[in-house]
Amino acid sequence: MQKNKPPVLAIVVPCYNEEEVLMITARELTAVVQGMISESLVSMESAILFVDDGSQDKTWELITAMHKTNRHVSGVKLAKNAGHQNALLAGMDQAKNFSDCIISIDADLQDDVNVIREFILKYRDGYDVVYGIRSQRKSDTMFKRQTAQVFYKLMSKLGVELIYNHADYRLLSKRALKELERYDERNFFMRGIVPLIGFPSAQVYYDRKERAAGESKYPLGKMLAFAFDGITSFSIKPIRFLTACGFLFFFISAAAGLFALFQKMNGYTVPGWTSIVLSLWLIGGLQLMAIGLIGEYVGKVFKEVKKRPRYCIESGLHRTALHQKRTS
Ligand code: UDP
Ligand code: MG
Repeated sequence: MQKNKPPVLAIVVPCYNEEEVLMITARELTAVVQGMISESLVSMESAILFVDDGSQDKTWELITAMHKTNRHVSGVKLAKNAGHQNALLAGMDQAKNFSDCIISIDADLQDDVNVIREFILKYRDGYDVVYGIRSQRKSDTMFKRQTAQVFYKLMSKLGVELIYNHADYRLLSKRALKELERYDERNFFMRGIVPLIGFPSAQVYYDRKERAAGESKYPLGKMLAFAFDGITSFSIKPIRFLTACGFLFFFISAAAGLFALFQKMNGYTVPGWTSIVLSLWLIGGLQLMAIGLIGEYVGKVFKEVKKRPRYCIESGLHRTALHQKRTS
């Protein structure tokens, strides 16, 4: 990066049915961008790129309207809902064509926009990756906090390096984005992949707030699926654990068999069917679980092998200058 020339910043904002909060978010982000432009921290050409992830509400109409009146607002519309991670990826793929660095942020203002300036200062100090870390998550429910704790512990036990209390609020330099391109996997769990890049990184702390408006787009089911995806995309230890369990059960049953034989020889018969029924159900359940888990990995391999596109762009709104630069 050239230190004297202000970098072009692109703020990528994935939005799924965010009509209630979008205008407030755009206003706050615009104020931050304009503030940084006036300090010559970022270039005049810096943009806020909203990615409409197949919303069914007025999200895209709002983005289009803002694009007409706000020179910093750009937009990308995905043909259908591709999920948060893929929407983010779509935005980053677009943004890297015209920017020097990107910042990803959720649309709901839970992440403090005032630390964006700090992100840029770190970037200008030469860091390629700047992680936004939640110094407290009081605004999250007790349940969400507890499940997050379990997730981080589990991931660290499985040997996956995750940045504690960091979600997808981060800055990436162009160089880091280029590097990220090489991780061409379908199951793209960004917060696990970014630390793998290994470029100089810094952290910025902020307080996580309540959603400014609207409802969470991550209900419990989706959240658990996301966590499960994170685990099975990054570690095969669960499968190893199953193998170990298989061996253990085999030895237990062999020992039980020997014991039964010994009892029989001594004239005892084992009466109760309870033990048989219970163990049948137990082993049956465990086997089904094991097959399901293996199926999860096989399914992932299946997805990777097909190499289907991760998102489909229906239309885009870019400033002419940026667009020319993009296509030139
Ligand atoms: N999001 C998305 N596609 C989806 C679900 C969510 O682009 O399928 C966006 C959403 O609009 C928001 C961000 O991802 O900007 C995070 O979602 P949300 O705030 O609902 O999650 P939470 O903070 O409750 O975990
Ligand atoms: Mg949120």
